[in-house]
Amino acid sequence: MGGASRRRNVYVPAMTRLSYKQHPPDGDWDAIVIGSGIGGLCAAALLSRYGNKRVCVLERHSVAGGYTHVFKRRGYEWDVGIHYIGEVDEKSVMGHLFDVITDGQIKWETMPACYDRIVLGDRSFDLVAGRKNFVESLVRDFPDSREDIEAYLALMDKVSKATPGYFAYQLLPIGVRQVVAPLVTRKFRQFSDQTVEEALRPIIKDPVLFDVLTGQCGDYGLTPREASLAVHTMVVMHYIEGAYYPVGGPATIADGTETVIGEGGGAIYTNAEVSEILLEGKRAVGVRMADGKELRAKIVISDAGVPATYRKLLPKDVAEKTGVPAKLRGIGPSAAHLCLHLGFTETAEELGLDGTNIWAYAPGDREENFARFAADSKTTIPFAYLSFPSAKDPTFQERYPGKATIEIIIPAQMEWFEEWADTKWKKRGDAYEAWKAAMSERMLEILFAHCPQLEGKVDYQELSTPLSTRHFTGHEAGEMYGLTHTPERFRAGFRARSGVPGLFLAGADVSSCGVAGALFGGVLAAGAALEGKLAGLILRHITPGLAAKAEEA
Ligand SMILES: Cc1cc2nc3c(=O)[nH]c(=O)nc-3n(C[C@H](O)[C@H](O)[C@H](O)COP(=O)(O)OP(=O)(O)OC[C@H]3O[C@@H](n4cnc5c(N)ncnc54)[C@H](O)[C@@H]3O)c2cc1C
Repeated sequence: MGGASRRRNVYVPAMTRLSYKQHPPDGDWDAIVIGSGIGGLCAAALLSRYGNKRVCVLERHSVAGGYTHVFKRRGYEWDVGIHYIGEVDEKSVMGHLFDVITDGQIKWETMPACYDRIVLGDRSFDLVAGRKNFVESLVRDFPDSREDIEAYLALMDKVSKATPGYFAYQLLPIGVRQVVAPLVTRKFRQFSDQTVEEALRPIIKDPVLFDVLTGQCGDYGLTPREASLAVHTMVVMHYIEGAYYPVGGPATIADGTETVIGEGGGAIYTNAEVSEILLEGKRAVGVRMADGKELRAKIVISDAGVPATYRKLLPKDVAEKTGVPAKLRGIGPSAAHLCLHLGFTETAEELGLDGTNIWAYAPGDREENFARFAADSKTTIPFAYLSFPSAKDPTFQERYPGKATIEIIIPAQMEWFEEWADTKWKKRGDAYEAWKAAMSERMLEILFAHCPQLEGKVDYQELSTPLSTRHFTGHEAGEMYGLTHTPERFRAGFRARSGVPGLFLAGADVSSCGVAGALFGGVLAAGAALEGKLAGLILRHITPGLAAKAEEA
């Protein structure tokens, strides 16, 4: 996996991750990154490594990593937003990129061959690693549908071919960029303008097979009727050769990038909330912190998401002139979620758990089930995603002997929580706690239906809601994946160049959802910030495959 390493999976306690409140930074920096999600960390590490920049990463939460951070309670640890990842083997662009930004400190554990199990009522279907195995496993379940499955994958191939260029052309030098942009955009939009349903219903005649092939739709937080074919393809093809989990847990990602950022003279500050991007004339020159302190740098990168950057951090008139707020109208946030974090006092092995993710759907029409639940949380839960992190990480037993953890994720609406919107974390009152307790019971029933051996064995449980997500990430709607991945989002085309000189955007909103998407959003931001020769260097060293594809397109 992921290449050579000097210090694999070892937490490196360095003076490069500091609490802003205890050690407020001073002076000018070469670059400031707002937000330590994987997009921000990737941009910071690349600027540090290829641009010789001293980078100051400012994170509002007390822990670095954005959705890749982990949290601990009562002797347990859970991941927040990385339950599996694809394409990180040693030959892949992504695996190489992770090595570059973490100095080879991340090692990836291969998940079971069946990485996702789609359960529809009382039938279950395995998505198996390796394209041939993927097809044969589905053909066993749908013997009359071989041609449809092959036609489906042929379409996925076409979309995949048109996708990298649409994002990567931003890294090309300006002259080439202007010529290439309309070509790659046209090719990509041919596919991204279609919804999953529009594109796939005519190909996949068996409705059950359709539900299986779109069973990973929780990975982009939209039903087939709403999601763009582009995001569906990115997710399916991301995992088709197999899935991985970070050895030592997802915290190793921020730990690894911290080393690279530190080697360049930079640092990550937690508890560091940015309230405003500072401008001189038309140019971004730094940030104002929530406590009023000003920090300055020639390059400012925001990983806080497009809506927060243009609606909260930039002055309104400056934001409007870029045209981005106009593009944002009509493009909402992605889905919110509830996650029940569970702890057990037996190991994953003792509990009979393996690493396969379970996507458990309620019987009936998926679109109707989701719509009904969104309108009324008391109706049937349309689906639950069951993840078994302690079975995925081979170091979990060393780190948490005799214990196991599970996460159950279901969709949610921020509107359900309106009455508690102004309350504070951990002090939201009895009614909120009662709501959570009742919903947790319902979520546990789903888990026990799939893993009856777990009944009566839960030692610790904690439900997070969209209010928790908002509290920790600042994402106003509690959204999981940034902007929603509809055809309109890709038509609007949010880019790393913000329209404000000196300000660049990283993360999922300028690329696509998922750790891989947001990571690539970090490459785009660093490439744009290092315009010219250095962007070329990044392209040559990290994305040779993508560069070749962009030129082909
Ligand atoms: C429940 C869940 C499960 C997921 N599962 C997977 C999975 O299995 N595999 C996968 O590939 N992807 C998964 N994802 C998606 C993936 O985690 C995200 O798409 C990706 O990590 C987003 O990275 P980002 O850099 O764009 O932003 P984020 O991770 O959202 O980071 C943004 C950071 O900016 C900080 N910030 C915001 N405003 C400010 C401010 N004013 N000042 C300072 N800091 C600020 C926030 O606190 C946050 O840390 C999941 C997401 C969720 C929520």
